Amino acid sequence: MEVLLLGTGAADGIPNVFCRCRTCDDYRERGELRTPTSVLVDGRLLIDPGPEATRQVSRYGRDLSGLAAILAGHAHDDHLDPSLLMHRGWVTSSPLEVAGPEPVIAITSKWLDPDQEAVRLHVLTAGDEVELAGYRVLAIAANHYAFGEALCYWISDASSALLYLTDTGPLSASALDALAGRRADLVLLEETFGDITDRTDHHHHLLSFAQTVTALRERAVVDDATQVLAIHLGHDNPPLAELRDQLARCGAQALPDGTVLTV
Ligand SMILES: [Zn+2]
Ligand SMILES: [Zn+2]
Repeated sequence: MEVLLLGTGAADGIPNVFCRCRTCDDYRERGELRTPTSVLVDGRLLIDPGPEATRQVSRYGRDLSGLAAILAGHAHDDHLDPSLLMHRGWVTSSPLEVAGPEPVIAITSKWLDPDQEAVRLHVLTAGDEVELAGYRVLAIAANHYAFGEALCYWISDASSALLYLTDTGPLSASALDALAGRRADLVLLEETFGDITDRTDHHHHLLSFAQTVTALRERAVVDDATQVLAIHLGHDNPPLAELRDQLARCGAQALPDGTVLTV
């Protein structure tokens, strides 16, 4: 499985254009951008098609001509901008699967001609395990809310597994138990708030991030060979060098937008 990190930032990205905090200035000085979190798997599965997804794909020299499926976790706009389906429809009418919780499908369907048959929509709910474009996908209840249900995903092919956990605060016991024994080669776990611990439990901060990594380790989802990356990073995180040190304490990393991982 090849995983391209199209974006690793929170909704506003880093730097937040309105902000002069030391983290935003650190990114400006180094010329780095974290754009909204989105991931492309094998060039075939696009996860969280946010407002910059198509430009992110072009920025990294790729295209979506081979796209087979789109998976979205929830209906917030940084993870779902269905206008790309209209742009795709101007070029091709080849089949495409789109899956996500009910609000994702409701918003997406508004962008489709009622008579079209190329794009097939699939409503998922927590606990569903489906085949999507050749991947096995387990839908996990996120600790998040976006006009209704929000989901995270465990995605596997014949030889490897990716656990995609954004947007979510600490997972419920039942969500963790649903993952028990499903080892992941790569975990992409959100860490939105950095040192801020009192904002909302619908996202992780550094402390709860480490606790979730421990919970996944206890359930044999994460082991010593699993790569754990922090994604959906916001500017409440410390500057990059400090963030790297803090994440390393729980065996995790923060990699830049555009990173290609072979899982
Ligand atoms: Zn988000
Ligand atoms: Zn800032």
